[in-house]
Amino acid sequence: MGILIVDDSKESRDLLKTFLKGAGYKDIITAASAQEAFEALGLKGEEHRHGVTFRVILLDVVMPEMNGIEACRIIREDAHLADTPVIMVTAVGEQDSLNQAFEAGATDYITKPVSKVELLARVRSVLRLYQEMERRKVREKELIETLKQLSEANRVLTQLSAQDGLTGLANRRHFDENFSAEWRRAMRDRQPLSVVMADIDHFKLYNDHYGHQGGDDCLRQVAAIIGQVVRRPGDIAARYGGEEFVLVLPDTPLEGGIKIAEEVAAAVRTLKLPHEKSPVVPYVTLSMGVACMVPDRSKEMKELIERADRALYAAKRQGRNRVKAAEDHSGIN
Ligand code: GH3
Ligand code: MG
Ligand code: MG
Repeated sequence: MGILIVDDSKESRDLLKTFLKGAGYKDIITAASAQEAFEALGLKGEEHRHGVTFRVILLDVVMPEMNGIEACRIIREDAHLADTPVIMVTAVGEQDSLNQAFEAGATDYITKPVSKVELLARVRSVLRLYQEMERRKVREKELIETLKQLSEANRVLTQLSAQDGLTGLANRRHFDENFSAEWRRAMRDRQPLSVVMADIDHFKLYNDHYGHQGGDDCLRQVAAIIGQVVRRPGDIAARYGGEEFVLVLPDTPLEGGIKIAEEVAAAVRTLKLPHEKSPVVPYVTLSMGVACMVPDRSKEMKELIERADRALYAAKRQGRNRVKAAEDHSGIN
């Protein structure tokens, strides 16, 4: 990245170039007109796209054809050149045009006849400014990148903290947090809320026979089935405990809850996961309890869970591999 000197007077150009070279600056390019400057900057024709950046541009104000102020404005319109420092070079008596120059985006100015000390001081100062700006831009970019990574990490963490590691279903914590929200929503909307408790039959025997790994595999497959059946946006399907699952079904009357439970049972039945030691049938089966309530202030949400739980144990007592419903207390039919 060099320095661009734009001046219609050769004498001026040579003088500026000599001063800058003497101070150790390299890659000094000169242009005798705005047009030549645009060419050096890569601003040809309508293509204001790929401006070539210079560390600094020294721009004479008075030039034939296009003056420095107009040239400065055009340079600033290019996205790549918007921040490149432009120092206007004005003759004494042109001070009036300085306002316009700053409006056009000039960074600083220097008056003719140019003194070497002043020129070098101005160039150094705009370069410092430019470098500081560049550093800030880099830092800002890094900060934005870090923020992006942080928010992605947060998203993953939130998801993980709500998910059961083994089955990928919602975990108990997610259930606890969301069940109360669904309870309150159902109360507000005066809508029935159904809960299904599901428990794998004789799972202890399954583990004893097929091993803990086999047991884990079985849990994963049953969970996958549950996840497929329970698919409305507001529904919650969670792992409640070891081999127990809970379904929360908003806006669902008791019959709807029973239907979902039967669907889960049927889907697990089709899986035909061998369970040789089961006294029920030689396949993995579920016992399920369904309960439904229209929540109101006189009711407690744990009552709904307890009812589903009692229905589940009724299913167990009556021979397992079945769905039992609690008495309908929703008051709707
Ligand atoms: P029931 O039909 O009455 O439900 O009998 P059960 O054997 O399924 O019930 P019980 O509650 O006595 O035993 C549950 C067993 O589930 C205990 C344990 O061996 C097994 N289990 C619980 N959590 C896990 C788990 O995360 N992985 C595996 N592999 N087994 C588990
Ligand atoms: Mg069990
Ligand atoms: Mg159990």
